[in-house]
Amino acid sequence: MPENVPETASDFISEFIKEDLKNGRFGYVHTRFPPEPNGWLHIGHCKAFYIDFSMAERFKGKCNLRFDDTNPEKEDISYVEAIKRDVKWMGYDWEDREFYASDYYEYLYDLAVKIIKKGHAYVDDLTDEEMSEYRGTAVEDKNNITNTPPGRNSPYRDRSVEENLDLLARMRAGEFPDGARTLRAKIDMAHPNLLLRDPVMYRIRRETHYRTGNNWCIYPMYDFQHPLSDAKEGITHSLCSLEYEIHRPLYEWFINEAEVFPSRQIEFARLNITHTVLSKRWLLKLVQDNYVSGWDDPRMPTIAGLRRRGYTPEAIRSFISQIGIAKTDSMVDIAFLEYCLREDLNKRSPRIMAVLKPLKLIIENWENGKAEELEAVNNPEDPAAGSRKIRFTRELWIEQDDFEETPPPKYFRLFPGNSVRLRYGYIVTCTGFDKDAAGTITAVRCTYDPETKGGNAPDNRKVKGTIHWLSAEDAVPMEVRIYNHLFGVERPMDVAPGKTFLDNLSKDSLELISTAYGEPGLAKAAPGDRFQFERLGYFVRDPDSSARGTPVFNKTVGLRDTWAKIGQKTVK
Ligand code: ATP
Ligand code: MG
Repeated sequence: MPENVPETASDFISEFIKEDLKNGRFGYVHTRFPPEPNGWLHIGHCKAFYIDFSMAERFKGKCNLRFDDTNPEKEDISYVEAIKRDVKWMGYDWEDREFYASDYYEYLYDLAVKIIKKGHAYVDDLTDEEMSEYRGTAVEDKNNITNTPPGRNSPYRDRSVEENLDLLARMRAGEFPDGARTLRAKIDMAHPNLLLRDPVMYRIRRETHYRTGNNWCIYPMYDFQHPLSDAKEGITHSLCSLEYEIHRPLYEWFINEAEVFPSRQIEFARLNITHTVLSKRWLLKLVQDNYVSGWDDPRMPTIAGLRRRGYTPEAIRSFISQIGIAKTDSMVDIAFLEYCLREDLNKRSPRIMAVLKPLKLIIENWENGKAEELEAVNNPEDPAAGSRKIRFTRELWIEQDDFEETPPPKYFRLFPGNSVRLRYGYIVTCTGFDKDAAGTITAVRCTYDPETKGGNAPDNRKVKGTIHWLSAEDAVPMEVRIYNHLFGVERPMDVAPGKTFLDNLSKDSLELISTAYGEPGLAKAAPGDRFQFERLGYFVRDPDSSARGTPVFNKTVGLRDTWAKIGQKTVK
């Protein structure tokens, strides 16, 4: 057992690993994160590589990044690049351990030959349909693939080793059309687990692979490739999500038959989050059919989408570490993810003022043309962030909903006769308002009290409301994009017959506000810069500019904490 392994965590994976080190099954720990480059990574993958990298770190081992790239029709180099960028952004480093299953094709082929020579694999001529008919299907429940009636042996199952070797070589040489033949493991056509009924190891597919080009026209299947790729890299603990549990006997079968390094597969619960889908297949559908603007649409649960939304790697890691590692699937409340985000943003975000839906405020006793500089604190959570100067002038912008002609009960903002403090500035008292012919309020009028600058209110001048504002002279126009959950329902994959998850897409997941203004400092914000817009929430500068050429800010998350009230991470 490596020295100085901290004794803190007590998740079941660490316990298995400790046991393996203690009883000598392995002398070291080596994990891998094995994405297929067929889409961008989502927050479920974050959980997987968080576990892979942190187990390696904890036991002073290593973690590889391996691309499981054996489906040429779906894979692409652009996905490889996106995956690498996003794992790095999350703060993980695989150093020089970047591997590709497609580099192992020759090795895998040799092992297939070895298994044929042992009499444990054969070339089959059945078509896909015949093969599934021979295999049989689960009768009562399609999801229950155990305890099904036995299947039947293929008529080609007893071919001689020589014939199988010859046919496999000719499959590789391109003598047969796509789908004409397969190589299958010879296990047991009556096995209660359907996956063990002579699974396919190789199929013929004339597709150009993004790395191996047209070198191969046969491609290995996942269940054959994955354990043997793990073994090739000396992976001790092959950690994966729970849906692979039923594949584990097959994982072990191939390792035994190929007589390679005995990697051990351990499964953990998948991450599921309310109001979202975490499957590349469904995310791809949203991208391809333009339900979102791309893989990095700020509403997507992809790492790139979360980044563009304003998430920090620290917030995502904090979320993953707090939900823990369990063996049973559960659904995590998205409010808990947002809570983790807010906790982090609160510490690091400079405060600034912005007005989303502007209304003119005119200070009647302030001289025209006069300007004064007020001091504003950048971050009350971080004294080192200092302060800045903001200009106070006769005409200001305030939020439309900070004024009411006829205030509802408990309304402490501006209405005729009422006083509020302008944040960092003076107390003002509403004297009236202007309306246009259509009855729309076009400006609010007030007077200021010079004695109340920057919070120096005499005792008798306490007011109940403080509102944010901007000088109309130097405010910069900007566009703001407000996001809601992509799916209105908690479990988008729960659909009525005849419906799909697309029917659960929310109609108002994006609201564009093109009329917003911000403090002049926001004009200089670089894409990715994060702020707390006072009283409004956390926002991040988007890489886009609006059609008018103004900067765009995405709303990351609001200030209000719903999770703290609910107080539980998982729902049902
Ligand atoms: P998807 O179901 O989204 O298509 P996948 O499993 O096909 O994902 P891979 O690229 O094969 O995607 O996944 C790489 C690793 O990430 C696997 O080890 C898988 O177990 C893990 N993983 C995928 N989705 C989740 C999830 N929601 N929670 C935890 N781990 C996940
Ligand atoms: Mg997969």
